[in-house]
Amino acid sequence: VGEGGEITYKKIQSSQIMGSIQLGIQHAIGGLASKPERDLLMQDFMTVETTNFPHEGSNHTPAHHYSEFKFKTYAPIAFRYFRDLFGIQPDDFLMSMCSAPLRELSNPGASGSIFYLTMDDEFIIKTVQHKEGEFLQKLLPGYYLNLDQNPRTLLPKFFGLYCYQCNSKNVRLVAMNNILPSSVKLHQKYDLKGSTYKRKASKGERQKTSPTYKDLDFMEHHSEGLFLEADTYNALIKTMQRDCRVLESFKIMDYSLLVGIHNLDEAQREKTEARLRNDPGQSDEDAEGEPKKSGLNRTRSINRQRLVAHSTAMESIQAESEPIDEEEDVPPGGIPARNERGERLLLFLGIIDILQSYRLRKKLEHTWKSMIHDGDTVSVHRPSFYAQRFLDFMAKTVFKKIPSSLKHSPSKRK
Ligand code: ATP
Ligand code: CA
Ligand code: CA
Repeated sequence: VGEGGEITYKKIQSSQIMGSIQLGIQHAIGGLASKPERDLLMQDFMTVETTNFPHEGSNHTPAHHYSEFKFKTYAPIAFRYFRDLFGIQPDDFLMSMCSAPLRELSNPGASGSIFYLTMDDEFIIKTVQHKEGEFLQKLLPGYYLNLDQNPRTLLPKFFGLYCYQCNSKNVRLVAMNNILPSSVKLHQKYDLKGSTYKRKASKGERQKTSPTYKDLDFMEHHSEGLFLEADTYNALIKTMQRDCRVLESFKIMDYSLLVGIHNLDEAQREKTEARLRNDPGQSDEDAEGEPKKSGLNRTRSINRQRLVAHSTAMESIQAESEPIDEEEDVPPGGIPARNERGERLLLFLGIIDILQSYRLRKKLEHTWKSMIHDGDTVSVHRPSFYAQRFLDFMAKTVFKKIPSSLKHSPSKRK
């Protein structure tokens, strides 16, 4: 945070970064239209296009009021192919990225990255370090070989890699899919690794309105775990096993499973309470005091197709979704689950922060200490150790199969 409370990254105002990258992306996508679709070539992964954005504009760039900047687009043809793989039309991508201001998210991470969310909730733009950007470039061909074979995955989907250059500073950015819907209240959020070393949300984080908790907090809040139907559980674990095998093959570690929990029963209670508080005895209005939408309208707005194909949690794990109650005001695609009290939950989840390769990892004190703490001291095996511990934690501690005795009367428990 800079002077006057403005958020800055590398001393550049965040608002300046946002506006400039929207100009850069708009130009990059526009420029692609003139390049016919064709098969991907290996060299497409190495291409970098650079454009200057002078104040007064140029033949192919608009005039603007930001500081003059350069904008680099990495592997434009390759990323166009990946967007296509996930059914994202160029016009739609342009609309999402550039037609409305971006929203800045508060980042619980320690890295100092900034996150921007597109207004339609589809994409996240994250600033990454030089090493991470380089790693993504090298990773691209192999990574997408995998996604091409198996688009049903919880792995992050990357849709663009850019570099904004201003006053000899470089801000590298990746565009990826957003995992957590902002239109639905997430009662709890977790960033889980399967480690216990320092895996507790800081005091500062816990005081936020919507904190991101960690492994130790999860075990405290949900000592019995989260309960899934057997089929859903199997699909989820199978997907994570497949994904971890890919990550391990690239010697990637330090990734997390991001889990957002919407508690349907709690949402119902909140709604009722708000209604009673606002207007006891009146039921023609919903909690916000808005007249009730007609049934048709409501269904349509909820069932709006996501722009990115196979991108909801439910689609990612290839499980059949039981249609959610039309009255429930939540977006589709959450994984149905129950907590220890039998309350109905919807889980939104995905694997994040995968651009840290073991080979590139800094030898921080924390790293050594956590290695010893975790008993993971054989360095050649570390990516596989990480993957195994991650999977173990998810399959045994975080997610559980609903015991069949509970299946039909879960709310009667306790
Ligand atoms: P660090 O390296 O210190 O762990 P980071 O800056 O690399 O942090 P991430 O771990 O990638 O950041 O993410 C930090 C937080 O941002 C996550 O815990 C989550 O709350 C949010 N976040 C990250 N990626 C996504 C995503 N794709 N969709 C929704 N939220 C995300
Ligand atoms: Ca992280
Ligand atoms: Ca990171």
